Amino acid sequence: MERFIDCINPATGEIFDKVAAPTTGAIDEAFQKAREVLGPWSQTPLEDRKAIIRRFADIVLADLDSLAVILTRETGKPIQQARNEIRNADKRIRFFLDIADRFLTEEVVYEDEKIEESIAYEPLGVVVNISAWNYPYNVGYNVFIPALVAGNVVLYKPSELALHTGLKFEEMWQRAGLPPHVFTTLPGDGITGAYLSAHVPADGYFFTGSYATGMKILSAVRERTVPVQLELGGKDPAYVTDDVSDVGQAAVALADGAFYNCGQSCCSVERIYVHASIYEAFLQHFVEEVKSYKMGDPMDESTYIGPLTRAAQLEVLETHVADALAQGARLLAGGRRIARPGNWFEPTVLADCHHSMRVMREESFGPIIGIMPVKDDEEAIALMNDTSYGLTAAVYGGDRARAERIFSRLNTGTVYFNACDRVSPYVPWSGRGHSGMGLTLSHLGLRAFTKTKSRHILKK
Ligand code: NAD
Repeated sequence: MERFIDCINPATGEIFDKVAAPTTGAIDEAFQKAREVLGPWSQTPLEDRKAIIRRFADIVLADLDSLAVILTRETGKPIQQARNEIRNADKRIRFFLDIADRFLTEEVVYEDEKIEESIAYEPLGVVVNISAWNYPYNVGYNVFIPALVAGNVVLYKPSELALHTGLKFEEMWQRAGLPPHVFTTLPGDGITGAYLSAHVPADGYFFTGSYATGMKILSAVRERTVPVQLELGGKDPAYVTDDVSDVGQAAVALADGAFYNCGQSCCSVERIYVHASIYEAFLQHFVEEVKSYKMGDPMDESTYIGPLTRAAQLEVLETHVADALAQGARLLAGGRRIARPGNWFEPTVLADCHHSMRVMREESFGPIIGIMPVKDDEEAIALMNDTSYGLTAAVYGGDRARAERIFSRLNTGTVYFNACDRVSPYVPWSGRGHSGMGLTLSHLGLRAFTKTKSRHILKK
């Protein structure tokens, strides 16, 4: 039976389109077609595959302005940030194209007069990518670009909150000359995702989204013993040490890390620990910065904070604020939902937080931050590790060696010194604990879309 998904503009609450979700029959057919084209695509010479992917990248850049408008309309991401995302994501494509020959070519790892032993890297096959809405270009490219470079065929399910971007991907792949059915967008919601994981016997499942959904997918696919990767949420901490060279600069950088994209990044700064000796100074700079942010129409070039993408998150934020205030937090900015159509919440700063508050322990995924003073590095390390997540952690300070000592004791996939909320194609993106399983990006994130074949070739 045909179902339609409402596409709602988060800035206004208006339904601007209805998209037909694929029926189970259509999903099965897409998988069948994907299987049929796997052989020819995986045997297409790497140079030819790369040429098509390069054309896709060029098409995206040529259409950047109109694609940014589509993204802003469906997610509420401020237009400048939408353009930034698309422009930055391009670097990931170029990176994978640059390293493809080196990391996909068979490697001879041992040889003598009698035998040659080598490792070949074969594509996984047909892979399912169930994706998120917060950075559809970045998190989409992390999966489907290396997948296609390595010769896989992709069934891509965009988030129901970014369907038009997902449909654009398929259209642009066609324009780039990708053979039909090598990349298929299935513009559905959670029901579509659940069907894909429970009933489509793919050769790999790559998911970006929440821990709760990740667990459902994992249990649906695990008995198939194929690769499963989960890029999940975070509760990313930052620690500002007493020897930081410029408290104001650290405050400005961390405010950006917490509030960029309305705080809806998996690696957004979600909690900040500040050495007690600089705590009040830090708060003053931080609040001043947050109060300077321009909030408003995301299509406006000067807007920094737009609406939340998901209406349901407003309630989570209200709960986090109420819980923190009831337990003694100091509200320094914001704190409330804004009464206008759409999903608006004031940029919110909570000081004097502690770890029985939800804002310090559960992913907020919105424009809200909890800040807490600490007496020394030991206390900061214990608090930073006091979470089920393990995506990123940042230290702002004047002594790299001190930061390195802290890093060696943090259980996260990524650490930052005097930086935060950033992703680079050159290094793996990986979460520990409830932040995920497996990795994307870097040369390892290309190899993640291959299976090895060990070759023992007797010479005589
Ligand atoms: P979500 O889990 O609600 O949805 C993610 C995707 O799963 C969507 O496409 C959705 O349709 C689909 N889905 C929903 N129910 C499903 C089911 N039962 N079976 C299969 N698929 C299903 O997450 P979201 O709100 O889209 O994304 C926000 C979350 O993603 C946050 O927790 C954020 O931290 C995380 N995230 C992580 C990374 C990372 O790289 N680690 C990147 C971006 C976002």
